[in-house]
Amino acid sequence: MAIENKAPGKDISAEDLLSKFPLAAKKSPEHKSEFEICGVKFGSKKIPVFAGPNMVESRDLILDIAFKVKASGADFLRGGAFKPLSFPYRSEKYNETREEGIKWLMESKEKIGIPIITEVMEEKYIPLISQVADILQIGSRNMQNYPFLTACAKTQKPIMLKRHYGASLRDWLGAAEYILVEGNEKVILCERGVSVAHTHRSSSRFLLDLQVVPAAQEITHLPVVVDPSHATFWRPWVEPMALAGIACGADGIMLEVHPDPANAAVDPLQPIDYKEFSNLISKMDSIAKCVGRYVKK
Ligand code: PEP
Ligand code: MN
Repeated sequence: MAIENKAPGKDISAEDLLSKFPLAAKKSPEHKSEFEICGVKFGSKKIPVFAGPNMVESRDLILDIAFKVKASGADFLRGGAFKPLSFPYRSEKYNETREEGIKWLMESKEKIGIPIITEVMEEKYIPLISQVADILQIGSRNMQNYPFLTACAKTQKPIMLKRHYGASLRDWLGAAEYILVEGNEKVILCERGVSVAHTHRSSSRFLLDLQVVPAAQEITHLPVVVDPSHATFWRPWVEPMALAGIACGADGIMLEVHPDPANAAVDPLQPIDYKEFSNLISKMDSIAKCVGRYVKK
């Protein structure tokens, strides 16, 4: 499509591409970052899948999920041991497993042989989490915590930068630039829903901004992953939005998967179960073929 790009974005000027985020900006329309993490290709025809629970609840649970999602075709196991929970109160069920959870992720990685993506929220835990994480996840809530972005970037570990639910594309790319400027080139963007008045269900706090996928890809060479679980907060909508994400050009899909979604410790309305995940992998692969890509190895 040969359209001259005189107005790169609603709030992004041509000058911004040169002076505000020169490292995140594309150098030419074809420019796309391609790299590998643990043998999984990013920014190519392959569409990586990240799957797992919201929270690393227990050893048995994470080992079981690691085994099942890997068998169905997930490329990375996701799950938080350190969680940005919206309220400060904790119960036995609603409790982060922290250092212990990191050990269980390590065990899952070693026993099942699946790479790990997990969230880091505080600078002091970067060394610990970096021991197990193949990708450091920076959550929405930390997207503009600049000293923290710099500290994560300095590990030279691959980083997934989730978009804050109120951030413009300009702010998101500005945050990515803080990582790139440290010489860390393996940066993955993740759209996970934005805050708007109309989300079509009282329990859904966010709206998946699929439009940001082609919008970002017009401007940046970085891979753009879509997370329909956090965006919809509603299990029946995860599949259609995951398929739509693939159709609109997502460079990866993140999904919450739990053996017993209704009893998940956190956000029980959003995970899909093992069977739904395995069926969805096949459907995503079919849609990927329509756009010249693939999900299954
Ligand atoms: C998560 O992926 O578990 C998470 C907390 O996501 P977000 O930062 O997008 O809310
Ligand atoms: Mn979550």
